[in-house]
Amino acid sequence: MLNVSEIRKDFPILNRKVNGKPLIYFDNAATSQTPQQVIDVIVDYYSNYNANIHRGVHSLSQEATDAYEQARLKIQKHFNAEHSYEVIFTSGTTHGINLVANGFSSLLKKGDEIVVSALEHHSNIVPWQMLCERTGAILKVIPMNENGELMLSEFDSLLNKNTKLVFVNHISNALGTINPIESIIEKAHKVGAAVLVDGAQSCPHIKPDVQKLDVDFYVCSAHKMCGPTGVGMLYGKEEWLKKLPPYQGGGEMIAEVTFEKTTYADLPHKFEAGTPNICGGIAFGAALDYMNRIGFNVIAEYEHELLEYATKQLLQIESLKIYGTAKNKTSVISFNVGTIHPYDIGTILDKMGIAVRTGHHCAQPIMDYYKIPGTVRASFMFYNTKEEIDTFISALKKAIMMLS
Ligand code: PMP
Repeated sequence: MLNVSEIRKDFPILNRKVNGKPLIYFDNAATSQTPQQVIDVIVDYYSNYNANIHRGVHSLSQEATDAYEQARLKIQKHFNAEHSYEVIFTSGTTHGINLVANGFSSLLKKGDEIVVSALEHHSNIVPWQMLCERTGAILKVIPMNENGELMLSEFDSLLNKNTKLVFVNHISNALGTINPIESIIEKAHKVGAAVLVDGAQSCPHIKPDVQKLDVDFYVCSAHKMCGPTGVGMLYGKEEWLKKLPPYQGGGEMIAEVTFEKTTYADLPHKFEAGTPNICGGIAFGAALDYMNRIGFNVIAEYEHELLEYATKQLLQIESLKIYGTAKNKTSVISFNVGTIHPYDIGTILDKMGIAVRTGHHCAQPIMDYYKIPGTVRASFMFYNTKEEIDTFISALKKAIMMLS
C-alpha cells in the first residue's frame, strides 16, 4: 500500500501556492516533480565533489567518476541490461532517438522501409523523416483507431523484407495508451527489422526489462521519473551499438587522435562525446533508487486507482469527451468540453492553482486524426491524491460555467 501523505512530504514543491491556491500538479506527463532525496544528491554533488570525470588523477575527479559510473550501474540494473556499456547517457529521449537515427544513415539505402506508429510524439517522427531524406528510405505508419489504439493487423501488412527499422512509443504521451510492444518487437524481428522503443512515458510507471522484451534500443528521460532535466539514457544491444557510428565527435569518445586518423573509444564512451551532465547522471541514479524504494507495482496500482477515479467523475460532465479510451492505459486523461478551447480551460484552472497541459502535446498527427486543435491533458503521478482530483473536478465545472 502506498502511503501518499508520507510520500508528499518528500516533494517540497507540493507545499507551494500558485495564484494564492495550493498547487495541484497534474502536468506530470510533461515533467515530474523532484523529491528532496534527489535534490539533496544534486546539492551534495556541487557542494562536495564537483569535478570533470574520466580524466583526472585527483581525488575529486575520481569521486565524481565513481558516482557517475555507479549511476550507470543502477540504470543497467533497473532496466536489466546485460552489460553496463549498453547504457549510454544522453541529454534525454530526443537525444537518444537522434543518436540512433543518425547512426542508421550509414546502414540504410534507398527503398529500405521504416515503420513508425500513428501515436508518436514529434521526437519519434521528425528524426526518422530526416533519416528518410538523407537515405531515400520510405516512412510507413501503423494506423490508430478511435479508441487511440494501434491497429496491429495493419502492422502485419506493413512489414516485409525491406523493413529495416520499427519505432514505437511504449506509452502515448497524448492519450496514455500502453502499446503492445512485446508483439510489435516479435513481429518486427521476424522480418529482420530492429526496434527502438520510446520509453519517455512508460519509465515513470513501468519497469521495463530490456532483455525480456528483446528490444534493440530503448530510450527515456530522467525528468519524467523524479530526476532532473537534461539527462536520460539510451539502452542499445551491444551488437547494434557496435555497428552504429558515433553521433558526435569530441573529447572522451576517442581512443587515439592524429590528423591522419582517429580511432574511437569502446562502448559506452564512443557515444558520449564531451563533458556529460555529470550531476544529472548521478541524480538520475538517485531518482531510480527513490522510485524503486516505493516499488513500481505499488506505483502502478495506485496511479490506476487515480485514473479510474478521475475518469468516472469527468465522464459525468456534460459534453466532456475523453480522447484515448484504450483498456490498457496509464494515468493520462486527454479531454475537451464541447467547443471550448482547451487553452481557455487551462488558463482558468491555472488561476485556481491547477497545472494541466493544453495543446497538441507534440503529437499533431493524433490531433489531426480526431480533427481537433488540441486537448486538455491531466496526468497523474503517485504523489497525487483523490482529494486533488475532487478539487480539480469542481474547478473544471466552474471553468466550464464561466466559458459557456
Ligand atoms: N517521447 C515521448 C512519448 C514524450 O512524452 C516526450 C516528452 N514529452 C519525448 C519523447 C521527448 O522527451 P524529452 O523532451 O525529454 O527529450
